[in-house]
Amino acid sequence: MKLTKIVATLSDKHCEPGFIRSLYEAGMNVVRINTAHQVPEGALRLIENVRTVSDKIPVMIDTKGPEIRTSALGEAIEVKQGMSIRLFGGNGESHGDQLFVSYEGIHSVLEPGNLVMIDDGDIALKVIHKTPDHLVCDVLNSGLIKNRKSVNLPGIALELPSLSDRDREYIEFAIAHHVSFIAHSFVRSKEDVLAIQEILNRHQSKIKIIAKIENQQGVDNIDEILPHVYGVMVARGDLAIEIPAEQIPVIQRELIDKCINQRKTVIVATQMLHSMITNPRPTRAEIADIANAVFSGTDALMLSGETAYGAYPLESVQIMARTARVAEQSREFMENKNIEPHNNEISGFLAKSAVRAVASLNARAIITDTDTGKTAIYLASFRGKCPIYAQCYDMQVMRELALNFGVYPEFISVETSKKQFTKVVLERLLNSKYLDSEDLVVVLAGNFGKKVGPSFVEVSTAQNLLQSTL
Ligand code: PGA
Ligand code: MN
Repeated sequence: MKLTKIVATLSDKHCEPGFIRSLYEAGMNVVRINTAHQVPEGALRLIENVRTVSDKIPVMIDTKGPEIRTSALGEAIEVKQGMSIRLFGGNGESHGDQLFVSYEGIHSVLEPGNLVMIDDGDIALKVIHKTPDHLVCDVLNSGLIKNRKSVNLPGIALELPSLSDRDREYIEFAIAHHVSFIAHSFVRSKEDVLAIQEILNRHQSKIKIIAKIENQQGVDNIDEILPHVYGVMVARGDLAIEIPAEQIPVIQRELIDKCINQRKTVIVATQMLHSMITNPRPTRAEIADIANAVFSGTDALMLSGETAYGAYPLESVQIMARTARVAEQSREFMENKNIEPHNNEISGFLAKSAVRAVASLNARAIITDTDTGKTAIYLASFRGKCPIYAQCYDMQVMRELALNFGVYPEFISVETSKKQFTKVVLERLLNSKYLDSEDLVVVLAGNFGKKVGPSFVEVSTAQNLLQSTL
């Protein structure tokens, strides 16, 4: 069983149910829709197709967030290293040595010496001096500047609103179509996520927010952001342009640690199998990158172009799943992590005992029930070596937990006793031959109803436990 989860970015250009099913069976757990490259009708078709495959696959809507793009280019502008270019903020005609970008404020935030990175950093400009209405820049490397390409200003704080009109439109869309997650791009501070939460509250929506950390401000403000989100995405694509690339592995490890300690869900994203967009086999470095993210304890790994438009989407998911499985089995469980206590201290204590029992007794499964998902997330935060079969009373919670490390959620329609939900899970696992009757199983359950939560941990063979439910 694979414990680390896989988020795959899909596009409406390649989203037939058969294709989605093949990725799901290969180990994809969550579908991400990148609204930067999608119109709502396409996103809706994609969501509908995901739902025909399974009601267990959560959909993550990814907003564009506060961003800058090159604007209003007719023909692409060809720039040569060493030439000089005039940079303007706002909407104007870009041509020759004159380039407009969508951010009006660019003229006031940049100073001589600052860098402007265009098209995922492919072309770098350096500001040389400021005139009253534009910036004179040196072109640091040759290339073609096309329309609507990304513009990053490394280390510069942008004075842009938390949400664009397009973001608001997609948040309303996410609410209307009951998706599970909104991943917000370029989160700089808690205000950026609170702006989304306010809209969600107005609609009484329980959609969970994932903060994409993709610039220095997001990294600096992580402690104030974390309490307001379900999880974090280490968005290395933009992060490695905004911050010197050599710092990214360290930041990645720090963000993963913080998330584990605070029981927040963490996703490592971008270029994990980038070469597989065109090649059938990954590089050694890509395999090591996946394994290292797993060694650090990430909940989930993400695929972008590999699955959205690459030539080997299924192979990418398969290789990612295999690599994760091998790596997670070679890691010790994180007993000594300083995980912040659950608001119910008893369930926290019991969760740790359950994962410890798995490690010392080599048990094969943890079975529990969960109302809000918190118990399952607490179990997951110790990063044990066996799956957590979480019986959920709420479909939405069941789908959310698909993103969390090691959790295999199922829906049960009514509150049941420990006997009933344990029986359901054991019978399924024995029938599927995942469990042998002599395998040890750990049950985390309660005798006082779901309001009180778990009150004991029970360890025995699958056979004994099943007998006790009869
Ligand atoms: P994106 O975000 O794919 O939406 O740009 C991820 C990243 O920047 O790594
Ligand atoms: Mn990004």
